[in-house]
Amino acid sequence: TVALRDVSKVFGDGTLAVDNVSLDVQDGEFMVLLGPSGCGKSTVLRIVAGLEDPTSGAVLLDGDVANDLAPRERKVAMVFQDFGLYPHMSVRDNIGFPLRIAGIEPESRSERVADIASALGIGDVLARKPGQLSGGQRQRVAMGRAIVRRPSLFLMDEPLSNLDSGLRAELRAEISALVRELGVTTIYVTHDQAEALTMADRVAIMRKGVLQDVGTPTQVYSRPGTLYVAAFLGSPR
Ligand code: ATP
Ligand code: MG
Repeated sequence: TVALRDVSKVFGDGTLAVDNVSLDVQDGEFMVLLGPSGCGKSTVLRIVAGLEDPTSGAVLLDGDVANDLAPRERKVAMVFQDFGLYPHMSVRDNIGFPLRIAGIEPESRSERVADIASALGIGDVLARKPGQLSGGQRQRVAMGRAIVRRPSLFLMDEPLSNLDSGLRAELRAEISALVRELGVTTIYVTHDQAEALTMADRVAIMRKGVLQDVGTPTQVYSRPGTLYVAAFLGSPR
């Protein structure tokens, strides 16, 4: 489980990016964090990952306060919008990189990389470099690299926003299927309402740093907690 307890973040210039957010994510749950640009989604994700310290409040991982844990001690994998692949490395080496860092033997490494790559449908491009891939393939490589060490928590920050709408729809379905198959707890950030409502087990909706509503897609859509949520989701009135 992941829990945020009264988490706030004030940046050095005084910007209140996250305002007293409390949120629980259950094991194996696919939680989507939804809201307009600048509402604090990425900051929340970065705080969970340990890339940013909260100004106040606590992050609990499996019930233990994780505030003082370094990012790599959190068993968290994160995928960003720009993929962050290593351009000079092959697909094989990109996906296997976390395993190499962890000191896994080359043989078990290549076996695991091959498994993941074939599950993601990129088994035939392992020798290529990121510059020789399509956007969708690059995104699959980024996902492969993120999950290769079997994280207990998977964080994705607008991973599809650089892709065209057809590919986005395709990858939405793939990501949902993959993380559910792995059973890994996921927090997925997007500003796209349709994406949130189709992918999520539950949706958490933010506005200006404040958590407005949390619930299943049906709950937040048909019984929105605030007028803002109703308007943002285009709920029937
Ligand atoms: P987007 O959908 O555009 O990615 P977001 O919901 O992810 O937006 P954040 O990146 O979390 O939003 O930013 C929340 C607020 O905090 C914004 O007002 C942003 O300008 C501000 N902010 C983010 N990072 C910093 C920083 N390092 N220093 C100061 N302000 C910041
Ligand atoms: Mg963001």
